[in-house]
Amino acid sequence: MTATTTTRPLLEVSGLTVSVGSGRNPVHLVEQVDLTVAAGQTLGLVGESGSGKSITCLALAGLLPQGARVTGGSIRFAGEELTGRSSAELTRFRGSRIGMVFQEALSSLNPAFTVGNQIVESLRRHTPMTRRQANERAVELLDLVRIPDPRQRAASYPHEMSGGMAQRALIAMAIAGEPELLIADEPTTALDVTVQLQILQLLGELRDALGMALLLISHDLGVISTMAQQLSVMYAGQVVESGPVGDVFAAPRHPYTSALIASSADVAAKSRRLPVIPGQVPRPGSFPAAGCRFANRCRHVLPQWERQDPPWTVLADGARGTRCGRHAELGLPGTGAVPDPGPPADPADAGRDAEPVSAGPGDAELDGPLTDAGTVLRIRDLGKQFPVRRGVLGLRRVVVHAVDGVDLTVRRGRTLGLVGESGSGKSTVGRLALRLIEPTSGEVTFLGRDLAAMSRGQLRSHRIGMQMVFQDPYASLDPSMTVGQSIAEPLVVHSRLTPAERRSRIGRLLERVGLDPSLARRSPRSLSGGQRQRISFARALALEPQLIVCDEPVSALDVSTRSQIVNLIQDIQESEGIAFLFIAHDLALVHHLSHELAVMYLGRVVESGPASRVYAEPAHPYTKTLLASMLTPASHGLAGRTTPTGEIPSPIDPPSGCRFRTRCPSVMQICAEVTPKPVPIPGGGWSACHLHQ
Ligand code: SF4
Repeated sequence: MTATTTTRPLLEVSGLTVSVGSGRNPVHLVEQVDLTVAAGQTLGLVGESGSGKSITCLALAGLLPQGARVTGGSIRFAGEELTGRSSAELTRFRGSRIGMVFQEALSSLNPAFTVGNQIVESLRRHTPMTRRQANERAVELLDLVRIPDPRQRAASYPHEMSGGMAQRALIAMAIAGEPELLIADEPTTALDVTVQLQILQLLGELRDALGMALLLISHDLGVISTMAQQLSVMYAGQVVESGPVGDVFAAPRHPYTSALIASSADVAAKSRRLPVIPGQVPRPGSFPAAGCRFANRCRHVLPQWERQDPPWTVLADGARGTRCGRHAELGLPGTGAVPDPGPPADPADAGRDAEPVSAGPGDAELDGPLTDAGTVLRIRDLGKQFPVRRGVLGLRRVVVHAVDGVDLTVRRGRTLGLVGESGSGKSTVGRLALRLIEPTSGEVTFLGRDLAAMSRGQLRSHRIGMQMVFQDPYASLDPSMTVGQSIAEPLVVHSRLTPAERRSRIGRLLERVGLDPSLARRSPRSLSGGQRQRISFARALALEPQLIVCDEPVSALDVSTRSQIVNLIQDIQESEGIAFLFIAHDLALVHHLSHELAVMYLGRVVESGPASRVYAEPAHPYTKTLLASMLTPASHGLAGRTTPTGEIPSPIDPPSGCRFRTRCPSVMQICAEVTPKPVPIPGGGWSACHLHQ
């Protein structure tokens, strides 16, 4: 039933079913899952949240949550059956032969013990090493995963490490027992693109050097395409397609795979709406009793497959399989063909970034005289420093240089995308723009008025025109309020609407963001992440703002839900002419949405210009590094990719001169001595690098 591989299978899973509940009607979390992983190879497991990827992996590692159990099928590892073994036996397997790396390294490591101690404990549990030998091996392992100064770092606590370094430490712990199989569940999801590429390269090198098999779970098709040889796509607890990753992505044979690829691949195309997969993955317990589980979201469905389960079909070459009843006749688009673009956008969209640049220091000098016409937000020479306490007793006072000399302009009906790694200061700029925090220096004007010169009352009335949408739709809505109450809150404070008028306005706002007005009575707890983020936009739109600052508004969402929110932002902008400051680390997405782009590094903007120019012809070495780290479903392998070196330095002690110099492949002597000035770049905008002088 599963795809066959040419090399010896290390892990063979067949008919795996995991269930919760007892009695005659247990709820199946995953059903009839077949997977094969060969030694030295990577199997990628993809699918939206709720598709069953993580439960499958927890079952393989014997780590199922309480109440869940394997109720069918077989897990054979190196020829040995794992189902039915005691938890003590599975624990032995887990440490010595199967390693695991989870998503959130900082929550997977024990905060009470040093990183070295945790690796030593793992080694002593699974090998006969003495403490002294384990101590030495822990340092070697930290060195192997390229943690600088490993002997000193072994004595660090997890909270003293960056996210990327903690993830390397977690990998060091997972490979301590030299496992034959490494299961990595979303190992790079919380990391920046540059650090993500470093971690993936590390995993690839370890796989090749140790001959490990790698089972890589990710919702990111770019990560899977880059790392895996084989692929299994999961939907609603089942594998719906599998085969060699290049073949499946080039010409998928299941509409779900094709839809996932379309949602990811089309992000860079600016003139059209992103394709969306309507609806959501059904939850366990509400899987259809019969018929294709994807039927209610599939645009190719025939009535027959709503009643009858499509059988698993091994395709002609024997290396692939699909669970689609129409696989032979559909000719679905993948990375090898242009995806279905969906309905064309407004014709005005065709020239999304054809207008002159409007962001960057010295706009007046670099791009000709800057008129105020249409300017909604203007930021000039903005700076923000935070005093913080450091040291064991918090006695050492230091200053965080979060933002330094930033200039930006956002115009009516336009989107300025702000990109950069974590720690670049982009979120701080977003908060400063709305004066949610006070700047240390510089000027922020909104519709021509200086926010710093406003009284508290004036600022309150100006805030009506400026709204913010945050990253986490689960944290940004008060769970004790209904959806209607959350949207009504700004209307109660800032408008004179009667209760009946408010109810009517809330209904219209919900419709505006594509939701049923009846949701106003529901609690946000019962809604999906995508629905909650739409509600955040409805709330932001309640007072008809001129500017919305979006801080990573889609990074917590699945690819299909992300497309819906991105399309919503474009619809809102076109119909209401709202200006957006869109902060994100996903360059392809920012390019899709933005007219102008500004790239931040360690508190400073290093390059700015029309989004298409910056994306197609980046001038600054940092922008080039960011773009080279981007992975898409059409990416093939890691060969030839430039690895960015190290991580972003601490803003407490930023490097002198060019702040990027400690990681720059083109660094020169002058870079440490002189801060580079912005230089105009052909095609529009500017870049601050000595190479341009
Ligand atoms: Fe690299 Fe120097 Fe340019 Fe900075 S100024 S980006 S260090 S070449």
